[in-house]
Amino acid sequence: MLSIENIEVTYHHTVQALRGLSLEVPKGRIVTLLGTNGAGKTTTLKAASNLLRLENGEVGEGRIRFKGEDTRHIAPDMLVKKGLFHVREGRRIFAEMTVEDNLIAASYALDGRPGLKADFDKVYDFFPQLRERRKQIAGYLSGGEQQMLAFGRAMIAQPEMILMDEPSLGLAPKVVEEIFETIRRLNAEDGTTMLVVEQNAGVAFSVADYGYIMESGQIVMEGDVPTLRNDPDIQSFYLGVG
Ligand code: ATP
Repeated sequence: MLSIENIEVTYHHTVQALRGLSLEVPKGRIVTLLGTNGAGKTTTLKAASNLLRLENGEVGEGRIRFKGEDTRHIAPDMLVKKGLFHVREGRRIFAEMTVEDNLIAASYALDGRPGLKADFDKVYDFFPQLRERRKQIAGYLSGGEQQMLAFGRAMIAQPEMILMDEPSLGLAPKVVEEIFETIRRLNAEDGTTMLVVEQNAGVAFSVADYGYIMESGQIVMEGDVPTLRNDPDIQSFYLGVG
């Protein structure tokens, strides 16, 4: 569904963030992209959703295709309409608006029309806390609830594929579990394809079928999750074993 082939990305014509990176996310699968700070994970997602230009980033060599179509000249909002939704790092909700208005705004952004009640009910069914807090100002939600809201905004768009940037960042283990359970459920129930960027390999492996490990702008290892779990380097660097 998403295919990235041998891309090079440079910021401000000087900082090379990706060096010939390739990855594949097949339809209906959950794939994780792991790496330490600064490895280039966020840049990879921004390249896929065409957000780099906003930050003086540029894809040089290489090819990116979503559902077989070259995405490099498709505007980010058009990519959302085509079914690719990027849940960005830091959650990016409207802090001064209520939970409900955040969801309504997501539906307007999609096609200029208000969403259907069933769409909102589905988000509230996945995240009952959001239903309880639907009249509250989003900026006052806990970090975990804000991540749920960011996820809920993505669900309103009914994407075929979601790019998730470090959903576990800064959250308590129990909340992380809840977010990842939702990733698993949305994939199982709707067949939503997912590319999940993480530093927390333990939780990422609990949902993913396949994983890529990146360092300094390149993929250094890839494989099925059971194989990665048994790799001694992954165990010591990412899983804290040994
Ligand atoms: P983190 O987990 O810390 O978010 P990451 O793996 O997502 O890290 P990126 O944010 O993609 O890494 O950054 C990759 C490299 O590109 C880093 O060296 C970073 O300093 C650089 N970089 C990222 N964004 C910009 C930008 N807007 N301008 C210049 N350099 C950037």
